[in-house]
Amino acid sequence: MLILTCPYCGIRCDETELAPGGEAHLKRFGPGSTDEAFEAYLFERENPMGVHFERWRHAYGCGRWFLAARDTVTLEVFGTYKAQMPEPPEEIVAAIRARRPEWEGRA
Ligand SMILES: [Zn+2]
Repeated sequence: MLILTCPYCGIRCDETELAPGGEAHLKRFGPGSTDEAFEAYLFERENPMGVHFERWRHAYGCGRWFLAARDTVTLEVFGTYKAQMPEPPEEIVAAIRARRPEWEGRA
């Protein structure tokens, strides 16, 4: 079972308390962008076997959105952080690199 710690209220939640929100750190494109960029923003998502950054909402708790870094194969969680952060915190990147030396970083 996936267990994540909400960075706002500090509660360890299992996945039944959470709502998934898809991939984190999407670069948004809107009017004025190319059709290809807008289409990619709408439809193209990473779906890696391994390290992934995701959006989650503490739906049955404080209700806030946060971000998580985890391994999609092993369910190992490297950390969670507030949704307003544009990049993963250094300590989470360091935790990923320590446990997954082959990880090449975010695209
Ligand atoms: Zn919470």
